Amino acid sequence: MDFDRTGDQRLLAENALEFARTRLNGSFPQRLAERRFGREEWGLCGEFGLLGASVPQEYGGLGLDALSTALAVEQFARGCRDTGLVFSACAHLLACVMPLVEHADEDTRRRVLPGLVEGRTIGANAITEAEAGSDVYALSTTAIRDGQGYVLSGVKTFVTNAPVADLFLVYAKTDPADGYLGISAFLVDRETPGLSVGEPLINGGLVTSPVASVQFNDCRVAESARLGAEGDGRLIFNASMRWERTCLFAAYLGVMDRQLEEVIHHVRERRQFRKPLARQQSVAHRVADMKMRLEGARLLLYRSCWILDKGFHSDLDVSLAKLAVSEAAIQSGLDAIHLHGAMGVIEDSGVDRLLRDAIPSAIFSATSEIHRDLIARRLGL
Ligand SMILES: Cc1cc2nc3c(=O)[nH]c(=O)nc-3n(C[C@H](O)[C@H](O)[C@H](O)COP(=O)(O)OP(=O)(O)OC[C@H]3O[C@@H](n4cnc5c(N)ncnc54)[C@H](O)[C@@H]3O)c2cc1C
Repeated sequence: MDFDRTGDQRLLAENALEFARTRLNGSFPQRLAERRFGREEWGLCGEFGLLGASVPQEYGGLGLDALSTALAVEQFARGCRDTGLVFSACAHLLACVMPLVEHADEDTRRRVLPGLVEGRTIGANAITEAEAGSDVYALSTTAIRDGQGYVLSGVKTFVTNAPVADLFLVYAKTDPADGYLGISAFLVDRETPGLSVGEPLINGGLVTSPVASVQFNDCRVAESARLGAEGDGRLIFNASMRWERTCLFAAYLGVMDRQLEEVIHHVRERRQFRKPLARQQSVAHRVADMKMRLEGARLLLYRSCWILDKGFHSDLDVSLAKLAVSEAAIQSGLDAIHLHGAMGVIEDSGVDRLLRDAIPSAIFSATSEIHRDLIARRLGL
């Protein structure tokens, strides 16, 4: 068992941290006010390689494995205070671009991947519907065969990047009678007649990551828009979730590292009862617990990536990692606020933002209850 990073991984992590710290924080206050990232920051994510970290080099990506991708995402998120931007970039890469890498035909890959990787185009993944959230395969959007193509009808909701996306990976039923086996995946251009995006939803966390509904009203796509075979939708979505539940959640490890550094600084500097807060054992123990939670989650996530890189599909390990990271992020967000006292709840201090960014992590990529169910099933319960 070797827990050390390779020289390349170390360099990648250092570069990601440095790039994000120096290039992406300047206009963050403006992005917060506008509640969305801009094409310029998106282009910078592409310039570093984040948008194509795990994409093979032949399509312009960095060609990293899952563990190295997670290490890059982690340090990028540690350096970039705009967690919404990092979340959007990771959702784009892991739930839209990676399914294209793994399941699109070669023509489609050559046509769309360079733009998605370089930051010229933005991708989104649309599966959730009003009546199909946790019960995700209960979706009712249909893709009915019509001549040489399909006609898509239905409404998707909570689609990350929808207000700004150029391409949508859409899951729809090609065979409504066949339950989850009748779901297929389609790549749909924003400009396709019949596709319309709703008004951005106002989110309390990850605020620069724009979210909206997407409607398909007799939206006609060619047969070549389908990824894989008819009925492959569930397989494609599950594979994308293995990427997302590991590599995207690495961002929260970086956020927790930054948070811990700030908390340690604060409890050392802030004096009450004629001594630093850090000298109070209950304060120091709370910080020690933050560190323990972070390192436990980090080990689970790295191991889960390592298993993916070995070519195994262990949903048990992926769920353990996702659950541990999201719950650590929420608890540490609460602890950070508590340790800052009243300043912790003042919006301008930014301390409470980390909690608001962490709360959605227990909901997207399937909720904590769904992951506990999955773990229990794998344990034979
Ligand atoms: C920030 C954010 C970004 C998102 N981005 C995308 C995106 O890009 N594309 C996309 O398609 N979707 C996206 N989603 C949607 C996300 O996938 C869903 O929110 C998620 O699957 C949960 O569905 P729901 O919100 O309908 O909650 P519900 O399914 O209604 O769940 C509500 C509560 O009931 C619990 N519950 C439900 N079923 C069970 C059960 N069987 N046992 C125990 N408890 C249960 C849940 O755990 C939860 O606590 C995003 C969500 C968020 C918050």
